[in-house]
Amino acid sequence: MRIVLLGPPGAGKGTQAQRIVEKFGILHLSTGEMLRTAVQKETDIGHKMNKFMAEGRLVPDELIIAAVNERILQPDAEPGFVLDGFPRTISQAVTLNDLLNKEAVELDHVVELRADDEILLERILTRAQEARDRGHAVRADDNRETLKVRLEAYTEQTAPLIEYYRSKGVLRSVDGLQPIDAVTRDVFRAIGKPT
Ligand code: AMP
Repeated sequence: MRIVLLGPPGAGKGTQAQRIVEKFGILHLSTGEMLRTAVQKETDIGHKMNKFMAEGRLVPDELIIAAVNERILQPDAEPGFVLDGFPRTISQAVTLNDLLNKEAVELDHVVELRADDEILLERILTRAQEARDRGHAVRADDNRETLKVRLEAYTEQTAPLIEYYRSKGVLRSVDGLQPIDAVTRDVFRAIGKPT
């Protein structure tokens, strides 16, 4: 099973991807996590990417596409994967499509988690504050100013993917503002595996 989760920052892609992975044992591929790991390693490329991430902008396609392509071709991705945070531009989606075509496989489902910008902003800021109160680390880009840029990047660069995948007939939309378990129920229905 090959799934893409689409949705703005804070819509719950990571949480829902985790639940799909627990249930179906497929690979969870979060490009945000991949990039944060690269940044922590303090490589040259990590420094370059950190600049974009800290500002809330997307890292250039060429940096991310090569990394994702390589990962998808690993043997542990063969039974399937959930992509969380990729593709985020039409160019990334087209490259992914070409790669899968070459491997004679295709995406089974693209699930869009819908959520309203204002609510997302408050949701992420509350979550960051709660983490801070518990003494946990908070993502550097989970602040009001950077979040605005991340939401703009979503609207301008990623939201066009909704039409792209709708025209391919693989898009399903789920209300991401419901309680987490209700979102999971709808996501599982959307991928044809009702709980
Ligand atoms: P996320 O954890 O998915 O919210 O991603 C955090 C940050 O990583 C984003 O704001 C971007 O700067 C970068 N990023 C993650 N995935 C991608 C992608 N597919 N294309 C470009 N930049 C990405």
